[in-house]
Amino acid sequence: MPHLVWFRSDLRVQDHAALWAACQQDAPVVALFVLTPEQWRAHGWGARRVDWVLQHLKVLQAQLAELNIPLLTLECADFAALPTQLVAFCRQHQIQQIYSHEEYEWNERQRDQAVRDALAHHGISWSQWVDQVLVPPGALLTGQGRYYTVFTPFYRQWALRVQASLSAPLPAPSARKRTYPAPALALPSLEQWGWSTADLVATPAAGEAAALKALDDFCAQGLMDYQQQRDFPALAGTSGLSPWLAVGALSIRQCLDAALKHAGDLCWDKKSGLGTWVSELGWRDFYRHLLVGYPRVSRGRAFQQATEALAWRSLDNPKVARDFAAWKAGLTGFPLVDAAMRQLNQTGWMHNRLRMLVAMFLTKQLLIDWRHGEAYFMTQLLDGDLASNNGGWQWAASTGVDAAPYFRIFNPYSQSQKFDPDGEFIRRYLPELAGYHAKQIHQPPVGQGNLLGGDYPAPCVDLKLARQRVMQAFQALKEEG
Ligand SMILES: Cc1cc2nc3c(=O)[nH]c(=O)nc-3n(C[C@H](O)[C@H](O)[C@H](O)COP(=O)(O)OP(=O)(O)OC[C@H]3O[C@@H](n4cnc5c(N)ncnc54)[C@H](O)[C@@H]3O)c2cc1C
Repeated sequence: MPHLVWFRSDLRVQDHAALWAACQQDAPVVALFVLTPEQWRAHGWGARRVDWVLQHLKVLQAQLAELNIPLLTLECADFAALPTQLVAFCRQHQIQQIYSHEEYEWNERQRDQAVRDALAHHGISWSQWVDQVLVPPGALLTGQGRYYTVFTPFYRQWALRVQASLSAPLPAPSARKRTYPAPALALPSLEQWGWSTADLVATPAAGEAAALKALDDFCAQGLMDYQQQRDFPALAGTSGLSPWLAVGALSIRQCLDAALKHAGDLCWDKKSGLGTWVSELGWRDFYRHLLVGYPRVSRGRAFQQATEALAWRSLDNPKVARDFAAWKAGLTGFPLVDAAMRQLNQTGWMHNRLRMLVAMFLTKQLLIDWRHGEAYFMTQLLDGDLASNNGGWQWAASTGVDAAPYFRIFNPYSQSQKFDPDGEFIRRYLPELAGYHAKQIHQPPVGQGNLLGGDYPAPCVDLKLARQRVMQAFQALKEEG
């Protein structure tokens, strides 16, 4: 009887604990990926995120075929339909043992509970491993037994724990002798599922070979300078690994292992470039722990519950709807904000400094609810990930854990002068401003027809008034509380 490896957000064959464990058994191994288009739509995935997964499935199928493991798919509209369909699938293929990795989002955990009950009812065993995090949620708690809500003490404990428990990433398992007949991988097209291919962007190469090469290149060329370069979007100063991490073409252990091989204990010195990068991996774990510790954040609710009463401007108001549309299109009249949004729209990725800037601009200068921005990011990002996206948005909106204080508002002009001093990044994405020299490009003078250059608009909001408006909105919360 074959053993089943259920692939989820872990689309690779190296450092795959579930696959490794299944391959230790002397039985045929079959792999499964469950396609859940309606669930992806409910989670706000855009065409490019779905396509990124499908690209990886094709690569994974070829890799698994070399190991004599067939990759089967099961299409199941949403998670609710899954327990019944998975049981039927297991019965059809005479599967008695399933292997997979844990997932932490609320819907995924509810799904897994329902699946576990259904499988148990039919006598099918299911083993799960920790994969997405270096330290599992629940393993690090405060003295009061609660999940950490401040990053620095979390990180201190996290780093100790990781150093004490880290093991080398697993290799790919050896090819199986016994094979199991399987049909060719048949994947529906995006259009069949109702996504438009017009939204697709050119992606990096899919698959773990490309991801591992990008990791190697970054360790060789970027890691040492990370701290100095990571805030400058015109430079390739960050790893760019997030799209592969989001689908699990790369594991977080492989990232840390590569950094450690490169520079050993320097990785634990937060003052070094390496230490800064490793602490970003810590942020990724931190936000995943929060999904489990405070499930409301995974369900569209603010971490700081009092901020639920904040008087965000409503999108029903046509002026607000226009502001939101301008933000999405990169037409707010604030050059760095707009260049950032166009980077997102054109490439499916945005630099972290700019994610913070545009998220703060939407929630503070435009006083638009962070949930609208979070959802828009999900439609555009290749690396769209509930934990990090929600964490980042709630940080910027001052509604989250360890969030930016509401009165510390990034000024889009000074951020631009500081982090894109020569306007190189702005020129890359706003060709209509290419003629401005470095001094003017951050805040070009308003010209004829209320335009700054070409069709590029004048600023959509007065920064001083916007600051007063958001300060009042947050102060009103305090008075109510
Ligand atoms: C509003 C907002 C939304 C975001 N949405 C996402 C998202 O949907 N998916 C996503 O992966 N990241 C998100 N981030 C975090 C961060 O911006 C990206 O992880 C980072 O820009 C990816 O680029 P990189 O791989 O070059 O990162 P590097 O700087 O090279 O960092 C290495 C890895 O560490 C992790 N990491 C880095 N910074 C953070 C962070 N602040 N929080 C959590 N993990 C981090 C990522 O996995 C990243 O790939 C968001 C941040 C903000 C402020």
